[in-house]
Amino acid sequence: MDVVIVGAGQAGAWVARSLRQEGHEGRITLLGREPHAPYERPPLSKGVLSGAEAHPPVLLTPQQCEAMRVDFRPGVEVTGIDRAGRQVRCADGSVVAYGQLVLATGGRPRMLSCPGADLPGVHVLRTIEDSRAIASKLVPGHRLLVIGGGWIGLEIAATARKQQVDVTVLEAGPRLCARSVPPQLSDFLLAKHRKEGVDVRLSTTVTSIGAGRERALAVQLSGVAKEFDAVVVGIGLVLDTGLAEACGLEVRDGIVVDPSGRSSDPDIYAVGDVANQPNSWAGGRLRFESWANAQNQAIAVGKAIAGGEVVYDEIPWFWSDQYDLNLQVLGIPSNDLAGIVRGSVDQGAFSVFQVAEDGLRSVIAVNAPRDIKVAKRWLKQGTCPPPSVLADVSVRLDKL
Ligand SMILES: Cc1cc2nc3c(=O)[nH]c(=O)nc-3n(C[C@H](O)[C@H](O)[C@H](O)COP(=O)(O)OP(=O)(O)OC[C@H]3O[C@@H](n4cnc5c(N)ncnc54)[C@H](O)[C@@H]3O)c2cc1C
Repeated sequence: MDVVIVGAGQAGAWVARSLRQEGHEGRITLLGREPHAPYERPPLSKGVLSGAEAHPPVLLTPQQCEAMRVDFRPGVEVTGIDRAGRQVRCADGSVVAYGQLVLATGGRPRMLSCPGADLPGVHVLRTIEDSRAIASKLVPGHRLLVIGGGWIGLEIAATARKQQVDVTVLEAGPRLCARSVPPQLSDFLLAKHRKEGVDVRLSTTVTSIGAGRERALAVQLSGVAKEFDAVVVGIGLVLDTGLAEACGLEVRDGIVVDPSGRSSDPDIYAVGDVANQPNSWAGGRLRFESWANAQNQAIAVGKAIAGGEVVYDEIPWFWSDQYDLNLQVLGIPSNDLAGIVRGSVDQGAFSVFQVAEDGLRSVIAVNAPRDIKVAKRWLKQGTCPPPSVLADVSVRLDKL
């Protein structure tokens, strides 16, 4: 059976690898809009942005494609899916037949809708090119405005501060990272960024961007004008679900798939940021934008296509690096559960355990990776020590 994968990012590349590892013998064609070999995106807001890394890790080199017999076609945009004819159409006029199709199309940065949002100097961050363009603006003393107080915005702010850039972060809502962490963590992040010299403004929006003096941008922040040398917009992702919608697949906050990654057409799968799958840890369906999810869900889809019985139901996990902090979030934190704190918030080394009546629900760890490791085991086993033990730093959790 020939497999065609649309989208050569983290998820698409891992489906190709997994198919061959699982013994799939048919053709594998990997079609990617970007001109590059598949690469990892997390360094784009960290090491690549700071200049510490020249290039993010490549997921499938040309040599690996050859060895694995993966027909990788960079710079090829798929424009349509013909389900009856079992083929995809590409912008270059080519047509590729499939036995099974995988949609790993991810998404594109959401743009601002205010006047001036398309001016030169207003950036987004999703690709190598975006990262390099922003990096060229991280000059000591330059003024950078980051719009969006989510993970990508905060990582950009942290990387820019390390380069002595004068950084302002705007968040339209009343707290940082509100979609993924409870208020306690938002407060911690706010205090950390302010301590590092970032001008964080909550409940503030941009109403327009115009030309300022000497190539600067004049930005109206909730009605007050301020000048910046560059602006980065980090306000979320618009999913690339257009192909799926146009060919009649079920799409609801992403492409709806079953536990093995199959969409409403059993010969079409979806993986990564674009897939919306049942997840018992989330208590329903989950669409999860994370490096680990893109990789592990793709490995599972490779197994499923190769003929295995697969139920993908991983505990959601992601990380973020900001300044000297490594933050990890395991499970889906709730705003309604109180957290048991272990360690020192003041010293920036602690974990917050959220325990519901039926057991451990989530852990947020700041410079405490070992707590995540042990908590993952407890979640899988359905066990959890009592709160007094969790909070007691004299107890080695990994020895319990
Ligand atoms: C700057 C940045 C930092 C991040 N940091 C972290 C982190 O610290 N921790 C973490 O857990 N996660 C992080 N992530 C998230 C993680 O990288 C993503 O969840 C992951 O890349 C998703 O992989 P994907 O393959 O689903 O989508 P993508 O990586 O977006 O890949 C989709 C690919 O499909 C292509 N495509 C789309 N439509 C078509 C079409 N019609 N034809 C051909 N090709 C098409 C796109 O061009 C793209 O190359 C970060 C993401 C970014 C952008």
